[in-house]
Amino acid sequence: MKKQFAVIGLGRFGGSICKSLSEQGMEVLAIDTDEEKVNNFSTIVTHAVVADGTDENALKSLGVRNFDHVIVAIGDNIQASILTTLILEEFGVSHITVKAQNDYHEKVLNKIGAHKVVHPERDMGIRIAHNIVSKNVLDYLELSKDYSIVELIAGEKICNKTLIDLNIRAKYGVNIMAVKRGDDINVSPHGTEKILQGDILIVIGAIVDINKLENALF
Ligand code: ADP
Repeated sequence: MKKQFAVIGLGRFGGSICKSLSEQGMEVLAIDTDEEKVNNFSTIVTHAVVADGTDENALKSLGVRNFDHVIVAIGDNIQASILTTLILEEFGVSHITVKAQNDYHEKVLNKIGAHKVVHPERDMGIRIAHNIVSKNVLDYLELSKDYSIVELIAGEKICNKTLIDLNIRAKYGVNIMAVKRGDDINVSPHGTEKILQGDILIVIGAIVDINKLENALF
């Protein structure tokens, strides 16, 4: 059976979630207080409805409690975001993801039972900053405050060397999860694999260790 998602708030964040879920063939109920926004999504999602996320009865009559996953993407109105999350938690919705505006908002959302709190502006800021600092860092994903995954472009320092030659795991304590070359991706690369200039190494490890690796070899 198709998974059912509800997205409350159709700004840039909620809107792009709706589009992407629909493109992946999911059933999506899109909710916003703004009629124009709802109309814009009526041809994209399964159902688009004008409703207020803080209106418990409205959410009840839309059957939101039965959805597999509800995403609260209400932007600046922190009060409405918190109240909506609280209602969903009281409904017993099994997966509630909420966009936080700031650290205080995030703290409250975690306390009142949001299962996942996302902070897209902050996270994108961190990723872009890493890319600006080092042109060899293509992407950066923080797994926790200590660990991350990065995509690094192989330059002159490491090209034409094998993973055994580079001995990255022993020297820096990080793991190369995969090597991308054009459209090919080699997950679990062998030690005898030779790195070519422009290959993209996907590395997982402690942030301090990854920084050492970046400084030494990229
Ligand atoms: P973004 O930063 O993702 O673009 P916005 O603040 O622009 O976020 O958009 C948030 C959306 O949430 C707006 O379309 C707004 O109409 C909607 N919204 C705000 N309050 C509520 C509410 N109580 N219930 C439903 N939707 C709401």
